[in-house]
Amino acid sequence: MKHYKIAVLAGDGIGPEITKEALKVLKVIEERNDVTFELMPASFGACAYFETGNAFPQATIDICDQADAILKGPIGLSHEEAKKIPIDQQPERGALLPMRRRYNTYANFRPVFLPKSLAHFSPLKPEIIGEGIDLIIVRELVGGLYFGEKEMGINDKGLRYVRETLEYDEEQIRRIMHEAFKLASKRRKLLHNIHKSNVLKSSVLWNEVMEEVAVEYPDVQVVNFLVDAAATALCLKPTQFDVMVMENMFGDILSDQGGGILGSLGLMPSACIGPDKAYYEPSHGSAPDIAGKNIANPYSMIGSVAMMLENSFDMMAEAKNVWEAMQGVFADGYSTADLSKPGSGVTMIGTEQFGDKVVEKLREMPKA
Ligand code: NAD
Repeated sequence: MKHYKIAVLAGDGIGPEITKEALKVLKVIEERNDVTFELMPASFGACAYFETGNAFPQATIDICDQADAILKGPIGLSHEEAKKIPIDQQPERGALLPMRRRYNTYANFRPVFLPKSLAHFSPLKPEIIGEGIDLIIVRELVGGLYFGEKEMGINDKGLRYVRETLEYDEEQIRRIMHEAFKLASKRRKLLHNIHKSNVLKSSVLWNEVMEEVAVEYPDVQVVNFLVDAAATALCLKPTQFDVMVMENMFGDILSDQGGGILGSLGLMPSACIGPDKAYYEPSHGSAPDIAGKNIANPYSMIGSVAMMLENSFDMMAEAKNVWEAMQGVFADGYSTADLSKPGSGVTMIGTEQFGDKVVEKLREMPKA
């Protein structure tokens, strides 16, 4: 019997609601497989700050250090509420970035997936969705502008100023490129390299290293795309993309656009992989506008569990079942509130019902 320790950081806003549904799914996976999961809950983000004065408290660090994998809900507060927390303890700066740094989770995989049969969820026309959207954004997660030195102050003209630095070394670029090329080799053998080398020197180095790495993957076709053009292309012809690789901030922005073309960020799970530790989280934030209403879509969190099964526990067959169970709930004509309007021919269900239906579907599936 395999035994895994999972740190469970439910987070803020809708985090606890969608985490609850993800844990229901994990329980069923335990029932169906020769595996036990030891869940280790810990507070992280704004809730942790209000409880302990620290957004990533030592007790949470200790739990994450011990864990085989970390399941993390979204963190954060509304713009107004966030002002109640000192800048350096606000959830991203105080918890998220330190966690990414601690575990060096440099490779962030964000699938953007919508089958043709669910084209009605997307704001794009059915002819643009074609046979379906199926791409993965590979985002460098521990470098670039988000991790560079930051400085705020008063300059010699007496004006408030800010300086943030965007820094990459070739090794940081090389390792994320290898991740992207390896993934592309397993899929359509097509890699879109997203950059801004017409303006940013960081992208000039990015592209140089990409070309060096490309030599090792001769069967992968590389297409270079400026990030601004890629934003348009994601709306006009998303089916041209399969694997897209990009630096940290570009990936943050374009992956939210990925959620937009699907119809909701609620369809965006992710995996953040480091050399020794990985954590899994929805790509979206804590959605304070809908928190506590049982209307959040837990697909992103349950999908993050599926990615954990794939990447941390080598349970590929059961991960596939989880994806199919979620798609099956939609295929049966159900929808969460983010994806459809009442009266649009689907049956509206809430967060808990979606989780329950995924669990029902999973239980009906043959065991791996
Ligand atoms: P958001 O991603 O929380 O929400 C954007 C929109 O998407 C909202 O209308 C929200 O209701 C909707 N949405 C998001 N997830 C959904 C889901 N699962 N189901 C249905 N609808 C969903 O972005 P925001 O409102 O700009 O940010 C809120 C907070 O989250 C901020 O404090 C921000 O800093 C934080 N944040 C955290 C993370 C993270 O934890 N990794 C990522 C992004 C933003």
